Amino acid sequence: MFDSLSPSAQSDLLRGLVERSRPQPGHARPVVVFDLDGTIFDNRPRTCAILRAFGEKCVLERPDLTEKLRGLRPHHVPYLLTEAMAAIGITDDSDVAALHQHWVSCFFVDSWLHHDVALPGATQFAKACWQNGASLVYLTGRDLPNMALGSFASLRDTGFPIGVPGTSLVCKPDPATPDEHYKRDVCPEMGRVGEVIASFDNEPGNCNAFLEHFPRAASVLLATQHMPGAPALTPGVVTINDFSI
Ligand SMILES: [Mg+2]
Repeated sequence: MFDSLSPSAQSDLLRGLVERSRPQPGHARPVVVFDLDGTIFDNRPRTCAILRAFGEKCVLERPDLTEKLRGLRPHHVPYLLTEAMAAIGITDDSDVAALHQHWVSCFFVDSWLHHDVALPGATQFAKACWQNGASLVYLTGRDLPNMALGSFASLRDTGFPIGVPGTSLVCKPDPATPDEHYKRDVCPEMGRVGEVIASFDNEPGNCNAFLEHFPRAASVLLATQHMPGAPALTPGVVTINDFSI
């Protein structure tokens, strides 16, 4: 667990970044970098929809499983799927394995991304930064072959600035690359867009990498979910719960 800023300190931080989004004479254009999953989007509703669909498919042969899955809600879903299953009473190894296999086949493709919902305040904050003049980069570990188009649609349909000047969606070219390696390698490239003033991510390792590459920018952790065994935060990374101002 990480200590989040108080609501008023969170508000001050976000308001300050909206203000800093105004281009200044003699400076490169400000850039704000957003991760997607667990940062501006809550993807737990996607997991719930995928698993409930599995339950509906096996309603005739396994009504018990269907009934349990119908009760699955986002608050049951921590980072690991096994924990979510245990929370609704599904512990049989073969059931968990079948559900996991189904989840993997759906979670990482375009067609399920529309279930994601924006974190509180995220759309408004991104819009305010963009309207003040910052360029926005959505930098995600979602992969280009299977998830880019759905991600674009999801950003558009939830009201984030996308498909307009000063916005870009950057995806992982190879699905097999581990997210943390990809982010660490690609984050210096964000400097080619302009002057990075802030980055937001839900993985402590990514926040540390950003602070290392852009020490004058705000590196902000979203206290949502993160990989088990994540590193400690480098001093200087700040933590917020959402984007409420
Ligand atoms: Mg993430």
